[in-house]
Amino acid sequence: MPIEQHAVEDELQALIAENGPIPISRFMGLANAAYYSDHDPFGASGDFITAPEVSQMFGELIGLVLADCWRQAGGEAAYVELGPGRGTLAVDALRSMSLVGLDPPVHFVETSPFLRASQAEMIPNATWHDTTATLPTDVPLMIIANEFFDAMPVEQYVKTMLGWRELMIRHDDIDGFATVPGQVPTEDKIPLDLRDAHTASVYEQSSAARGLMRSLARRLAAQGGMMIVIDYGYHDRFAGDTLQAVHAHAYADPFIRPGRSDLTAHVDFSALKKAAQSIKHVRVRGPVDQGDWLVSIGIDLRADQLTRANPGRAAELAAARMRLIHPEQMGTLFKVMGLSGPHWPAVPGL
Ligand code: SAH
Repeated sequence: MPIEQHAVEDELQALIAENGPIPISRFMGLANAAYYSDHDPFGASGDFITAPEVSQMFGELIGLVLADCWRQAGGEAAYVELGPGRGTLAVDALRSMSLVGLDPPVHFVETSPFLRASQAEMIPNATWHDTTATLPTDVPLMIIANEFFDAMPVEQYVKTMLGWRELMIRHDDIDGFATVPGQVPTEDKIPLDLRDAHTASVYEQSSAARGLMRSLARRLAAQGGMMIVIDYGYHDRFAGDTLQAVHAHAYADPFIRPGRSDLTAHVDFSALKKAAQSIKHVRVRGPVDQGDWLVSIGIDLRADQLTRANPGRAAELAAARMRLIHPEQMGTLFKVMGLSGPHWPAVPGL
């Protein structure tokens, strides 16, 4: 089915016509903001499905983990979610916290007006933020980020005959949007051990993701609290180019039809971990595989309980459990990393 062009395509063309080629990170940031701004990307009729949309068990178990840590820490705390999508994870997590008598104030960091509206239907009394900068400063934060960091813009660098250059996006009527190495040498951005890599090697990193991680770790150090980051990604940084586009559950060319497909990159957990560890008084655990984590925090028990209460849903629950934990599904590609501030316990299962 042909998809109509998004207005951001004209904006990107105009920007390039005016300034010359733009960094991939700029292209990705603008394309993704446009992509999320005006529709619901989730589910069978959308582009992709995330873990909380697969099963209520995912958010419920996260809620129990938060409740457990919060009880041990004592005092006040706020629930914070970065990029809550439809609000499904928050609803499931808050319901299981409420069952044990915990009802935190809710803060969502969300830029999409369209998704904010769906979240407001689910959790009307939440407070919305454009960025993490306006989150409360006077209370410990329990921060959840599921499939958020993968949407952060990445920079890419390519080794050319002349040395390392940033990869930029150009545009013309024949090729459309296409990559081209920039003019400026960028050796200083490349880790020492990669500088001599062979020609055409690509080094990818996300300054936005690392910066965000550092600033949230600083918050946890100063205010207390915890953070759980769940995303698909890798644990060493030699993955090269991982930028991909997904449209209607299939991979697409990342530079075709900006604003109409979801642009993501694998999350570099070793870079995020280093960024968090650079902040004093914050403890970092993981990453571990999502499947192992869900098993250790009790997905089997929860699946059994739900099956006993709803025998008619047995097959659906078994399939959802498999989808979340099986190595060939989301079990090993997705990873979980935990941060804890002073006087907060380590995230269980990590
Ligand atoms: N966590 C949800 C949704 C993941 S999709 C789930 O697991 O189902 C990514 C989410 O992050 C969307 O809600 C999107 O609108 C939001 N988002 C993407 N980039 C963002 C940014 N820079 N600032 C705030 N929200 C962003």
